[in-house]
Amino acid sequence: MFRGGPAVSAAFPSLRLGGRAAVDGVLDRGGGIIMADKALSAARAAAAARGCSVLDGFPVEKIVPRGAGAVDVVGGGGRTLSARGVVICAGAWTNKLLEPIGSVLAENSSLLETAF
Ligand SMILES: Cc1cc2nc3c(=O)[nH]c(=O)nc-3n(C[C@H](O)[C@H](O)[C@H](O)COP(=O)(O)OP(=O)(O)OC[C@H]3O[C@@H](n4cnc5c(N)ncnc54)[C@H](O)[C@@H]3O)c2cc1C
Repeated sequence: MFRGGPAVSAAFPSLRLGGRAAVDGVLDRGGGIIMADKALSAARAAAAARGCSVLDGFPVEKIVPRGAGAVDVVGGGGRTLSARGVVICAGAWTNKLLEPIGSVLAENSSLLETAF
């Protein structure tokens, strides 16, 4: 961990911080790059191998808890899917789905720059 612009500049002289002092740096020697298209294809194949169906073009309008171990997912066109549970991976739109059922994730915004 490199606290402050001078420490970051000393550790990474090739970075141009534009005089910013309120900058911290982290060097992760175990970091790497994931090819998003290949990773998503692998995840999709792994899910399919376990009996999951992937529904593209299914905008979720609302999630309706039906009690322990039962939930309805209402999509575009009024189609409803029932399941024992759901995993919501809606990124920045997650709270739009959670708010109506009274469960909102706290948001914590920060500016991160990544150098490879
Ligand atoms: C400009 C930019 C550049 C970035 N560059 C990098 C980078 O170089 N490297 C890196 O590692 N990360 C990068 N990121 C971050 C990366 O994109 C995110 O961390 C990652 O996409 C998050 O994945 P996710 O699956 O959680 O959410 P998302 O990728 O946001 O996926 C959420 C999906 O849910 C869908 N969705 C939302 N609401 C509904 C609904 N009601 N019904 C159905 N679908 C819905 C959305 O359409 C979306 O497809 C970048 C982000 C941005 C904005």
